[in-house]
Amino acid sequence: MIPGQGEPAITGAGTPSPVSTRTGDIDLAILLLADGFRPDVLKALCASGDLPNITRHLLAEGSYHEGVTVLPSVTNVAYLPMLTGQYPGTANIPGIRWVEKSRFTFNNGVVKGHRSYIGPAHLRFNGDLPNGLETMFELCPGSLAIRSDIHRGLAPGFSRFHGSSIPFMFFSHYLKRADFIDKFVLGSLLRALRKMDDNWPRFIFFPMLDVDTASHAHGPEHRRTLDAYRRIDAAVGTLVDRLRRIGVWDRTHLLLSSDHGHTETAEHLDLSRLLSHLGYRVFEHPSIFRRVADAAVAISGNSFANVYVSSDGKWERPSVGDELEGEHGRLLEALRQRTEIEWIAYRHSGGAIKIVSRSGTALLSKDCESYIYGYDGSDPLQLGLPRTAIHEADALELTADTRFPDALEQIWQLFTSQRTGDIVVTARPGYDLRGRREWPEHRSSHGALCSEHMNVPILSNRPLSSSGPVRTVDLFPTIIESLNLTPAKPHSGRSLW
Ligand SMILES: [Zn+2]
Repeated sequence: MIPGQGEPAITGAGTPSPVSTRTGDIDLAILLLADGFRPDVLKALCASGDLPNITRHLLAEGSYHEGVTVLPSVTNVAYLPMLTGQYPGTANIPGIRWVEKSRFTFNNGVVKGHRSYIGPAHLRFNGDLPNGLETMFELCPGSLAIRSDIHRGLAPGFSRFHGSSIPFMFFSHYLKRADFIDKFVLGSLLRALRKMDDNWPRFIFFPMLDVDTASHAHGPEHRRTLDAYRRIDAAVGTLVDRLRRIGVWDRTHLLLSSDHGHTETAEHLDLSRLLSHLGYRVFEHPSIFRRVADAAVAISGNSFANVYVSSDGKWERPSVGDELEGEHGRLLEALRQRTEIEWIAYRHSGGAIKIVSRSGTALLSKDCESYIYGYDGSDPLQLGLPRTAIHEADALELTADTRFPDALEQIWQLFTSQRTGDIVVTARPGYDLRGRREWPEHRSSHGALCSEHMNVPILSNRPLSSSGPVRTVDLFPTIIESLNLTPAKPHSGRSLW
């Protein structure tokens, strides 16, 4: 609420309610994914009265938490925690572009063992999900999703606009607008709800892309981006009106959250060109027809990159520690020195991860349930930790307010995937990593571990009683509890009820 306006106050780490009002009466859970929403922009617009529907339907009666998303903080990949309870690393999808070194082969110009979910290949996202996870749609039969690349478990006809969304993506990318698409799919959702009579789905996943698209095109605080926030607020009002009219609003749990924030981008570091200048023959999307390469650059967001290098001319498995430093030391040093790069990370011997910046070098490892973190020079992650062993249960709380929220858990989860790059590169705010390949030019970026990209709002129309810092991966068990579902497979996160 905003003090003095009779509205709910928004605080940083969550607004705990004295009493959780979950009463077992929830028939419908809706996750409205407001792609690219930044908590500070949301708060400012609520304070100025620009988002009356979000204020009335979510803040006034419900709760507000500020959560952290996942690394890489990028669209679709950062939907995984909410829809599967998994991290990008544990779901083996460590970016919107990746390479799997053991399958990375070159045959007469055709290259195998890589993926970019930009363009038509987004249709392969769902098939790339490992069997070891379960989607919310599998857990909750009869769910409905709009334009979701994660759709395993949805019944025919309940995955709306998935296969037909390529023309939408094309036009929104080149026109730098998603408002007409969001409006169209909202209309479709409203019509579907009207026709269903009492047979509503129990769970609806509804991503809206207007703010993300406007942010990339104009900047995260540009007038046109703020207009996009207002349009999504209007959509919330329209949706709640419809739910009221069909008589289900009183039994609805409405959650609004985001997958990442944004930072203004003034300059682009062309990471692929940097590698080329060092003598590497670089594979990079969308130029996927090559006869040979000894490096691959896979960028997400565009502030995050998985960089892969061959070893002795071969593509077999992730490169580790001494081997990487011995063969590619010049590249590591070149990356470390660039002002546009925040830090790099790579696998070290003994299962540890090395994090390197211009100011220092750190090692992250895990012993049973504790992270072990130490550094030489100054701490590249600036965590200010009170001790070197941090129990995983404390990892978020001790890092939530730092420049790199949840750094220990997020860097660790990322490197559980064999598809994560030999070198992970993150850009400093103000820069990104993709130069000549990105058109139209991006004026805003995300993907990295900085707080501006990681912190996202979590709003609920019913007050969630959890206090302290939370993660978007907590939304999965929260929805499970809302709908009284029983997960059959392990997942991360804890319910916010
Ligand atoms: Zn996004």
